[in-house]
Amino acid sequence: MLRTLIRERVDVCRINMAHADEAWTRSIMANLRQACRDEGREIATMIDVKGPEIRTGNLPEPVELKIGDTVEFWTTEPENHRDGSTLRISVNYEGLPRDLSPGATMLVDSGLIQLKVNDCTDDRVRATVTIPGTMGSKRHINLPGVEIRMPSLTEKDRNDVRIGVEEGVDLIALSFVRNAQAVHELREYLCKLGSHARIISKIEDQTGLGNLSDIIQASDAIMIARGDLGIEISYEKLPSIQYQCVKLCQKYGRPVIVATHMLESMISAPVPTRAEVSDVANAVREQADCVMLSGETTMGSYPLEAVRVMKQVIQATEAVQHEHQLNHQIALKTPKAKMLRSAALLAEEMGGASIVVFTRSGFLPHVLAALRPHGIPIYAFTDIQHIFRRLIPLWGVEPFRIEFNNADPEMTIKHSFAKLVNGGWCKTGDPLVVITNVLAHGEIIDTLQLRKIPETLESS
Ligand code: PEP
Repeated sequence: MLRTLIRERVDVCRINMAHADEAWTRSIMANLRQACRDEGREIATMIDVKGPEIRTGNLPEPVELKIGDTVEFWTTEPENHRDGSTLRISVNYEGLPRDLSPGATMLVDSGLIQLKVNDCTDDRVRATVTIPGTMGSKRHINLPGVEIRMPSLTEKDRNDVRIGVEEGVDLIALSFVRNAQAVHELREYLCKLGSHARIISKIEDQTGLGNLSDIIQASDAIMIARGDLGIEISYEKLPSIQYQCVKLCQKYGRPVIVATHMLESMISAPVPTRAEVSDVANAVREQADCVMLSGETTMGSYPLEAVRVMKQVIQATEAVQHEHQLNHQIALKTPKAKMLRSAALLAEEMGGASIVVFTRSGFLPHVLAALRPHGIPIYAFTDIQHIFRRLIPLWGVEPFRIEFNNADPEMTIKHSFAKLVNGGWCKTGDPLVVITNVLAHGEIIDTLQLRKIPETLESS
């Protein structure tokens, strides 16, 4: 199935570390690498580390909870789990009784069970069930509006990041990012490990939303993690928060992923609901860089169908997206970045043109994508493998890896044209705006060139 999904042009695979141990993660990464080799196509990989996530411990069997039942959440393992209508269960966070006060709301298992806190002692929280449900083991707990003092990067996270880095992951998603400091901490750790991985901050609670601008600027990309966010805030606010978050990411030139429940019904059905189709289309109209599937492609019965549906909706929506403006909000500081805006405008004016860009740092295609040139493919060429994979999630960018001819940049351009023609991306006579360096009397000069795919090209 991985091979099939890669063939269907899935761009990124995410491993959710909430469910992963080391051996499993390493075997999945090995499978991914093998699937990519078999398909002759590279994709980017992401590990999603859980950050300050509170979970219950184990129960010998699931327990039905009724309205009015009492649940005690213990910071140590309780001796017995049942005592009349009281259920005792452990939690993975010893600061929980300190951070909660009587009257606070606790939501367990995506809000399926709701409780109100009665009282807290040093090592347990006692709460009353207000919405009934079945309590199982290792259930996630949300505490809407409560500022928890758990460290941003737990010991498990550090271990998970280390495993990911050793396996060469490209993207690290950090859950429940509450402030920019959490991102700096992860970046410092990645530096120590000598990793190039990019940091994706998951916005999923009220504290994170309150510090959104700072978090976006500190991060390499943002994920709007609507699963938890929709529990931590009133769900009617979710669409406008998604919109604002996407716009703010565009202002700061950061890629943004819209995630969770996009085609949820396809976990058990081969076709999506009309509302799900509209949700994907909405994210595309908002110009998110990526749309993401979760349960649909893990435990779902129709992963291939879900990916196909998503692809069709993206393509159909982009094809009729006519009201469009270049992103004028983004601050372009350097002359080189300003030149990119001219390149984007020029390509739009020309009609039917594409942009070709050569990069070793990823900066140029990154800015071009953030400018959102309408209907203009951005073909980005690099000679560095990890930069190639870093470009995969960007809006409108198709990356290629080729050798650069440092002595003769024109040879590199010819090589790139051949790649575009051979891959069916362009044909003879197609207009291109090419952004590259030229050597003039020993000096390297940035240039913006108007080119056409010539009739004769050496194939590569
Ligand atoms: C989410 O909450 O929407 C999300 C993407 O995170 P996870 O899949 O880890 O719950």
